[in-house]
Amino acid sequence: MSTTTAPKIFHTAIDLPVNVRTTVIELLNGTLADLNDLKSQTKYAHWNVKGPSFYSLHLLFDQLASGFDEQIDTVAERIAKTGCRLFRGGAYKPRTSPYSFQGLGEPGLKILAKVREQHGFGIITEAIDNESLDLVEQYADVIQIGARNMQNFSLLKRAGRARKPVLLKRGMSATLDEFLMAAEYILSEGNYNVMLCERGVRTFSDFSRNTLDLAVVPAVKKRSHLPILVDPSHGTGKRHKVLPLSRAAVAVGADGLLVEVHHEPDKALSDGVQSIVPEEFAALTVEVRQIAEVLRRHVN
Ligand code: PEP
Ligand code: MN
Repeated sequence: MSTTTAPKIFHTAIDLPVNVRTTVIELLNGTLADLNDLKSQTKYAHWNVKGPSFYSLHLLFDQLASGFDEQIDTVAERIAKTGCRLFRGGAYKPRTSPYSFQGLGEPGLKILAKVREQHGFGIITEAIDNESLDLVEQYADVIQIGARNMQNFSLLKRAGRARKPVLLKRGMSATLDEFLMAAEYILSEGNYNVMLCERGVRTFSDFSRNTLDLAVVPAVKKRSHLPILVDPSHGTGKRHKVLPLSRAAVAVGADGLLVEVHHEPDKALSDGVQSIVPEEFAALTVEVRQIAEVLRRHVN
């Protein structure tokens, strides 16, 4: 009788046969003694390694500039009606230019905490270094690690020691292996609540900010148990492409969408050209729910 040795890399259940993978996932779930605590803290019971269930996310007010409190409220109210459960805003912005708006920092996190209180959303926001991660961990329900930091290994390890779920965005030129190994860094430190997010990769395309690599969704599903979301906003960079690519993302098996929404996109301090307005977002959620239904997928 052959003895089975534990796979060296097992947290992301990479490349294991389906039956073995299921066992590993069950095992991982079994080791999550504090999963219930985490669930009650975050209110998102479906954010565990069991996946896949479909949940939509959205983002608005990417910049969280000062004086935006009232507008954030107006939009949050409209978005809450769509059944969307997560609200993202950037308090720390990793910008290409050091002279672009860098985010509000902790005051921005406080605005987000207020949105959670008043509108019942879970809050997701990006940490750009260990220092901001300490604060983000205190305020947010989900910690985002952005594309530019996908291989910032000390940040990934710190996120792995955090007590909150992590959304890991794919680096703009990351291979599937690099993407999964980045997730592995987080899981290897004991944080099993990791969601991946495809946000487009850099190609020779001259009509799109990035090329949204939807083929990575089934590729991830074949090799890992982790849920994978799609960000059609950064993935295309143009608002007219957000709806069509959202439809496609759901059809191809994405576990959620991260969509940028702004009530006055042309005035946004960052990423306005790829932001849609709340009414368009509401219509989008209706459409993707219909598509999910055809595919017999559950939408939370
Ligand atoms: C973002 O999500 O706002 C962001 C900066 O995205 P990315 O890290 O994918 O560029
Ligand atoms: Mn953005």
